[in-house]
Amino acid sequence: VSPPAMRAIASLLLALAACARTPSPVTAAAAAPAVSVPDSGALAIVRSLADEVGPRLAGSPGDALAVAWAERTMRAMGFANVRAEPVRVPHWERGVESASLTAPVARPLVLAALGGSVGTPPEGVEAELVEVDSLDALDALDPARVQGKIVFIHRVMRVSPYGSGYGETVPVRVRGAVHAARKGAVAVVIRSVGTGPQRIAHTGATRYDDAVPRIPAAALAAPDADAIHRLLAAGATVRMRLQLGCRALPEADSANVVGEVPATRGDEGIVLLGAHLDAWDLGTGAIDDAAGAAIVLSAARAVATRVPERRRAIRVVLFANEENGLAGARAYARAHQDELARHAVAMEADEGDGRVLSLSYAGDEAARPRFEAVLRAVARYGVRLDPEPARGGADLSPLVPQRVPRLSFGQDMTRYFDHHHTVSDTPDVVDARALDQAVAVYAAAVTELGTM
Ligand code: ZN
Ligand code: ZN
Repeated sequence: VSPPAMRAIASLLLALAACARTPSPVTAAAAAPAVSVPDSGALAIVRSLADEVGPRLAGSPGDALAVAWAERTMRAMGFANVRAEPVRVPHWERGVESASLTAPVARPLVLAALGGSVGTPPEGVEAELVEVDSLDALDALDPARVQGKIVFIHRVMRVSPYGSGYGETVPVRVRGAVHAARKGAVAVVIRSVGTGPQRIAHTGATRYDDAVPRIPAAALAAPDADAIHRLLAAGATVRMRLQLGCRALPEADSANVVGEVPATRGDEGIVLLGAHLDAWDLGTGAIDDAAGAAIVLSAARAVATRVPERRRAIRVVLFANEENGLAGARAYARAHQDELARHAVAMEADEGDGRVLSLSYAGDEAARPRFEAVLRAVARYGVRLDPEPARGGADLSPLVPQRVPRLSFGQDMTRYFDHHHTVSDTPDVVDARALDQAVAVYAAAVTELGTM
């Protein structure tokens, strides 16, 4: 093959590789009409919660500070009926953690315990690693190969605009400990469920099953996981020492914080706007989920100031304990059982700071005209119909059996999982312009829903 032909082939391969890695949100963004959106003030809210409260995992000192912050902020923004509705929440604490390779070479590793994990004995555990790339592969292993070892699950998360790579990979984090313990492993470590090459670990909830022993579970930073993967692929025996100081403490008191923009004319029910107030302990919870809180607070305030004729109340709920239990969501559904039928629609913002790309809907056909009016109102921001039924956020899941209609905006999550559940979830990674677009889209939707 001639050199020019080789160059042509090489550039074709590069182009193909680039396509594979850069799917369509770019196209969606490029196709979006250039509607200018005003500064919504949402970034200031993100900074306020992240800076003044910071980490706020359920039951931690930050959780109580966050509840006080939310009440104070809603009152200052002019919300009515502001209150903290009590919720009992699980309380898990990270403690001190460290990990290192002990063979074939001694070197420190960057790792974080998964939320809810049991700790190791104080001296740690030290064992050989056995690698798999999926739960199915783990299930297929001969227990004799796993007994007394640390299972290493190396599964690489795909980058995708709507975050679908997360759904594909997250079962490894949630259920890896149970599957590994069934085979006799002493611990499980996973490649972080996240994207990007940064040497940071992504935490997130894991679960146990009472039928199998509870083993320590942690996530390695991607570069460390990749290095271990290469060593094992080259045939090395790889050993790791793991020390986790995490533990579960007794349940604690927290609260859902609720505030309203009342109807001004008539009483046609409630538009529920949710986001979650809690955040993992590693970062300051800026994209997850101060961004969502800022979107719903700013959108509700915009409607309160710009739309005098409101036939429905707009209720903002900042939920407790989304990350490791959903206790806030369940408490809301229980406490408001009698008025759930009055919820015209529920929405939750928990997809970070990206611009809104799509809209989906789930619920009674009778509510469909409302949804179609919203779709028309947000089209000018480049928001397109997603024909799949709306999933809604995790905090809306207890409302699904109660038949509350749900409307879901799909935000651009291409970069979200670079920072999600890590030390780098701080206001510095927030895209203020994209966040303003999301506020404008939510405000346009709530205007329709609150008035028609
Ligand atoms: Zn979240
Ligand atoms: Zn989260």
